[in-house]
Amino acid sequence: MKVLVINCGSSTIKYQVYDAQGKVVLAKGIVARLGEKGSYLSQQTAHSDVRRELPIASHAEGFQLLVQALLDPQDGVLGDLSEIIAVGHRTVHGGDVFVESSIITDEVIRKMEELIPLAPIHNPANLLGIHEAMRIFPNVPHVAVFDTSFHQTMPRKAFLYALPYEYYEKHKIRKYGFHGTSCRYVSQEAARMLNRPIEALKMVICHLGNGVTIAAVDGGRSIDTSIGFATFSGVMMGTRSGDIDPGLTFFLNRQSGMSLEQIENLYYHESGLLGVSGVSNDMRVIVDQARAGNDRCQLALEMFAYRVKAYIGAYAAALGGLDVLVFTAGIGENAPVVREAICEGLGFLGIGLDRAKNEQALAIQSDISLAQSRVRVLVVPTNEEQMIALDTVRLAELARHATPSPSERDR
Ligand code: ADP
Repeated sequence: MKVLVINCGSSTIKYQVYDAQGKVVLAKGIVARLGEKGSYLSQQTAHSDVRRELPIASHAEGFQLLVQALLDPQDGVLGDLSEIIAVGHRTVHGGDVFVESSIITDEVIRKMEELIPLAPIHNPANLLGIHEAMRIFPNVPHVAVFDTSFHQTMPRKAFLYALPYEYYEKHKIRKYGFHGTSCRYVSQEAARMLNRPIEALKMVICHLGNGVTIAAVDGGRSIDTSIGFATFSGVMMGTRSGDIDPGLTFFLNRQSGMSLEQIENLYYHESGLLGVSGVSNDMRVIVDQARAGNDRCQLALEMFAYRVKAYIGAYAAALGGLDVLVFTAGIGENAPVVREAICEGLGFLGIGLDRAKNEQALAIQSDISLAQSRVRVLVVPTNEEQMIALDTVRLAELARHATPSPSERDR
């Protein structure tokens, strides 16, 4: 008995197979570059590592291939498709409709379709994945785990923009936040690492990957987060600007004659680490080049750390104190130099970094604070798929108990 986790994007399908408890990964793979040149499937299990390069025209073909790979007698982990007892789907936008993960029904699909305008690229791809997976696994529960749900606990004062109120009422314009599944996972893991009840902890989560989210989590509930309505506010990211003055949009449009599409492209794809450094969106390259004396890379690094630091201060104030600072995702887990730059000068908040421990903490759970530090500073590798698998197991179990078995129905 196993659980399948699907993360379906517009040109990739990532997948993992877990054991029935949702705890152990048995296989993980990706079908990438769908409908593009150079498409491939790659899959790893404990006993195999396969990569097949072949034309893959559509998501439907991609799903067929991943099923074949999972069933492969030599390289797969399934003897039969019936071994999959539930399927979990990473789903980007749940609007203010989905406050937690949900068993997928026709009604859920209809609501997800209504939310497409809020995530025009991601939600259609997620829905495509749900439809394909439901075709292949028609008789098992499918569960949607939304990236926005965790942040639905934000109070109105935090999630509303100070626009006329009807823009919220009519157009649902508000802060939604993203990376919620990651924030939920690492906040739970952080409490577990510290052996403290999550209800008693005030945390700031720094999810620093290609996308960046800083979240304020009080007793396990998100009370504020840096990404808002779209996906580029908050801290500068790989190619996204982060917070900017909205007045810039009008200026660029009127004074420079840039179209809205060009400005959108500027904010999303040409800014952030890439835009400032002029070199790369990858923090590894920025760190290396800064060390080698590249001034613009040094500047990008300083700007990034400064912005994260400012959010930590803001959220410590919003929380009314701070017990735990968590670093996660690609940069947060792997870049001691960035963590050090962020924590520098935060002694007044009770944050004290142990430099040696910080240097050693590379993609492993670790407490990198000084023994006397009032705030525990933790590195917690994120694992969104695990969170999805655990939600899927939990909800599938609930659904099983809620639906009478055929023999019970006959009684
Ligand atoms: P995504 O948001 O795409 O899931 P990840 O969490 O995988 O992103 O983070 C990817 C980013 O992590 C890379 O762009 C890179 O900048 C950064 N990264 C990964 N390893 C390191 C490292 N050793 N040092 C600095 N940055 C790193």
